[in-house]
Amino acid sequence: AGIGDWITRRAQRAPATTALVDVATGRRETYAELEHRVAAAAEGLHGLGIRQGDRVALLADNSAEYLELLFATARLGAITVPVNTRLAAAEVAYVLEDSGAIALAVSAGYRETAEAALSRVGHRVAHTLAIGDAGAGLDELIQGNEGSRPPNAVRGDDVCVIMYTSGTTGRPKGAMLTHDNMLWNAVNLLTAGKGISGTDTTLAVAPLFHIGALGLSALPVLYAGGTVVVPRGFDPEQALRLMAEERVTTQFMVPAMWAALTKVPDLARFDLSALRWALCGGAPCPLPVIEYFTGLGWTFMEGFGMTELSPAALYLESQFVVSHAGSVGRPFMHVDARLVDADDRDVAPGEVGELVLRGPTVFAGYWGKPEETAEAMRGGWFHSGDLGVADADGFVKLVDRKKDMIISGGENVYPIEVEQVLHRHPGVADVAVVGVPDERWGETVLAVVVPAADTVDPDELTEFARRQLAHFKCPRRVEFTDALPRNATGKLLKRVLRETYTGSAA
Ligand code: ATP
Ligand code: MG
Repeated sequence: AGIGDWITRRAQRAPATTALVDVATGRRETYAELEHRVAAAAEGLHGLGIRQGDRVALLADNSAEYLELLFATARLGAITVPVNTRLAAAEVAYVLEDSGAIALAVSAGYRETAEAALSRVGHRVAHTLAIGDAGAGLDELIQGNEGSRPPNAVRGDDVCVIMYTSGTTGRPKGAMLTHDNMLWNAVNLLTAGKGISGTDTTLAVAPLFHIGALGLSALPVLYAGGTVVVPRGFDPEQALRLMAEERVTTQFMVPAMWAALTKVPDLARFDLSALRWALCGGAPCPLPVIEYFTGLGWTFMEGFGMTELSPAALYLESQFVVSHAGSVGRPFMHVDARLVDADDRDVAPGEVGELVLRGPTVFAGYWGKPEETAEAMRGGWFHSGDLGVADADGFVKLVDRKKDMIISGGENVYPIEVEQVLHRHPGVADVAVVGVPDERWGETVLAVVVPAADTVDPDELTEFARRQLAHFKCPRRVEFTDALPRNATGKLLKRVLRETYTGSAA
């Protein structure tokens, strides 16, 4: 059985419960209506010739139709490929080509990108569908197929989505996530913190083309039989207003979004009394943001996830969020995690190791990349590429990405540690630390700083660092810039910095 069956079951048991709310159109649909539309759309897709295993790409803003199409595709055993809407045409073409998508659904705002991308793709993308604000493509698929019950032979280990990674460290890789991956990820969410049940309501406010909104908002809540409110995207004021109006009870956002909410004046004018718990993850959550929400008396948890883990991996329960600040906690219910050395042996508490994970939420491999898959899946464990340290109680603190670690004169430097120190200097508004090639030391430390004021003395910054860090960790070179390259989640794109300042991406 697959995720499409969740809707069928819920529609049988609680047909009148609201499943989806599409904010832009005001359309509210019950589980019975959702089931009806999904079944008809699946029949419509089948009529177009889409079959089990085919890839259907989606280049669209968030909408109820996005999720309807995902479920309809899943019902046929076909595979949804969500595409990052921030990509340029050439990058969209890469995803279409890489995934071999034969259909593409596009919402308003991405038509030109889609056309430009399609003209570059080597194979034929046979079907394009205008959805959301772009047109009635989905409604047309549904019309004429009402009341149909397309065959559903989906198995749990069939691939449900090919979700591309964020592309922080290189080209995005297509992670194959199965129906069972999504199921166990939902179970992980239902059994974490204050849990999720059929009485919950959430906002799918992070982009649905990243695994966060799908895996941490929409799918677990629909699995539980609750309500998913879908705005087109994220706007801080609108998010708060919707959380109040729709009586949102459980909410995931990435740190940059939570941080944006703290900037909205007079938060108290929004009645958020229905909110039971909030989850922050995808990138490190700044301590002031954690303190702000825990200060309001919220149950605010931090989580660590990755696309390849569907994505929930570790979380920090709210009672530890302040006492263990900086930690991403311990594994979700159905995740095994270890920290290992280069020979895959467990490291002792307090020692840095690579985080490796095992369990039913670990992906089925990178699409079309058997070598990368084999490299990541060694000895039955998924190697995350993230370095961490555990304390005696098993709380994991992330240290940095393996790829970002700098080796200078034989010593390991973890850029995040250096960044945290430099962040405390009043002249620093933002900072990234990367390694640059050096003949004598192998690599040395470069700090790229966004100054808070016009005049910041680079020597003073180095002095400041020296007071708190070993010499080999201190920047040997400081460069100034207006803004650091970040992706939609707020992640620093260090490969871009390395390219800019050394001319190599290595
Ligand atoms: P790519 O794999 O293409 O380079 P990516 O790893 O950023 O991109 P994602 O799967 O979206 O793509 O993100 C997973 C990564 O995000 C993790 O490996 C980790 O480095 C980081 N991350 C996730 N949650 C947290 C968190 N709570 N704190 C710090 N880092 C986090
Ligand atoms: Mg990654």
